[in-house]
Amino acid sequence: MVKSHLKSLSVDMDLGYNTFKEIARSSTHTILAACGLEHRKGEVYEVQPPVCLHGEGLANGLSSLMKGCCPSCFDSFVKDVVRTIMDIRVPQWLGFRNF
Ligand SMILES: [Zn+2]
Repeated sequence: MVKSHLKSLSVDMDLGYNTFKEIARSSTHTILAACGLEHRKGEVYEVQPPVCLHGEGLANGLSSLMKGCCPSCFDSFVKDVVRTIMDIRVPQWLGFRNF
């Protein structure tokens, strides 16, 4: 899931294999930490936890890795994390961003 977001966000840039892998790994650990799951401390960035207002969806049995957050909010949270970490790891990218 992290990788598919990272791929779509980095489609216009030449990230390089190692950078791509590092960003994917940091994103994964940051998301695991946000879910309260096991993670490696050194890889975790500070991010805003997702806010889900879709209580009905959760009541219908829809749920994601994260408690109290539906799959679609969780998905945008993953995208946010990937983008945040990309901004930190690839500062020159800011100049290319135009969407
Ligand atoms: Zn939601």
